[in-house]
Amino acid sequence: MPNTETPIYLYNTKTRTKGQQFVPIDAQNVRMYVCGPTVYDRAHLGNARPVIVFDVLNRLLRHVYGDKHVTYVRNFTDVDDKINAKAVATGRTIGEITDETIQWFLDDMGAVGAIEPDHMPRATAYIAPMIAMIEDLIAKGHAYAAEGHVLFSVSSYAEYGALSGRSVDDMIAGARVEIAPYKRDPMDFVLWKPSSDDQPGWDSPWGNGRPGWHIECSAMAHDLLGASFDIHGGGNDLTFPHHENEIAQSKCAGHDFANVWMHNEMLQVEGKKMSKSLGNFFTVRDLLDQGVAGEVIRFVMLSTHYRKPMDWTETKRVEAEKTLRKWNAIISQVEGEVAPSGLFMDALKDDLNTPQAITEMHRLAQGIAWNQLDILQLKASGEMLGLFQNNGLMDANVAVNRTERVDSIIESLMSSRYQLRSVKLYEKADKIRDGLISAGVEVREGKDSYTYDLLPSFDVAKLEALK
Ligand SMILES: [Zn+2]
Repeated sequence: MPNTETPIYLYNTKTRTKGQQFVPIDAQNVRMYVCGPTVYDRAHLGNARPVIVFDVLNRLLRHVYGDKHVTYVRNFTDVDDKINAKAVATGRTIGEITDETIQWFLDDMGAVGAIEPDHMPRATAYIAPMIAMIEDLIAKGHAYAAEGHVLFSVSSYAEYGALSGRSVDDMIAGARVEIAPYKRDPMDFVLWKPSSDDQPGWDSPWGNGRPGWHIECSAMAHDLLGASFDIHGGGNDLTFPHHENEIAQSKCAGHDFANVWMHNEMLQVEGKKMSKSLGNFFTVRDLLDQGVAGEVIRFVMLSTHYRKPMDWTETKRVEAEKTLRKWNAIISQVEGEVAPSGLFMDALKDDLNTPQAITEMHRLAQGIAWNQLDILQLKASGEMLGLFQNNGLMDANVAVNRTERVDSIIESLMSSRYQLRSVKLYEKADKIRDGLISAGVEVREGKDSYTYDLLPSFDVAKLEALK
């Protein structure tokens, strides 16, 4: 049974609003395409952000529509000039480099808790559908061949620029437009280009060559998800030109393409753009090798909303580790399955408001000493975010806190307190309560029963000394 109590709202770059309730084209098969990496090197920390963000969306959709009713596609761009350059520089084959890099990517993203998408197409396995799509675009007058190239004619698509909200004039003024003699118009972009003997190439009606980057996603999305699908995602650095070009190609080929366009903001490190020249560039693997748990990376990422710039800081890393150690220890004390809390789900369904969802988890974690349901909901909520995947992040101190021994010490102290009160020795009785507070135990007293909560300041040695 799909859980449709609260509708999902997603911010759509295309309409610049999250005002419209998300309604899938087919609730039996909710379809999402996310642009994946170009595989020539280790994923840097910024590359992990869209993977984690759309992994959470994938989990949410599966939770709401059912595990078997979601299709998630993320591609690998395994034909690219950067890959060719690396092959030349290292003397290795392109296949070796792309195979190795894809495995690195899967390992590193697995370490940050990402579920593998249902399909992970490699561009080089979809050359035939790309050629077919390019031929179709030529036949329909939206593309032309020139000097071994095929170019998309931007002026043939009136809505070009609608996604990114740019006018064609602005785009021409931008630096990313490449002027070339074979282009009729400087805005036209490459669908196919010729390959020399030392470059990867495939036979085509326009000679030996290789596809442009943008056509990959249009062709693979069409092949795997059909002419129309629900969500297309990626980093906001892809909005223009990549996604603008994908839309132009697909729409002109007669496909409805994606309904909702989602873009995550970029990542910074300690307030600065991550770059090799600033010396603050690092990969996911660098962090893992330094002993930073994948779960910590994931938690820090999700503590900022995906449409805000994410600042990776050492302070956040330390704080995340502390929180996760505590939470992992707390949830290790319960068994059972419940759904995540309603407030948590509402936050997630509100355009993936993960910071708000995490705030709700903090609230659940506060009630740990007296409410088993809170702990189970904390566990379910964390799992929904892809946390708590048995990574050894556990605070031994918190784990021992809720032992029978702690229970029995508190019980004997409290029963002494009740006895003292019954003979009106209030001062002595209150001393016991004050002692508990100073040991980090907060007691809530009813008429003849009590519950307690262990505060972050809880000190088992101080409690032992009260006996
Ligand atoms: Zn793409």
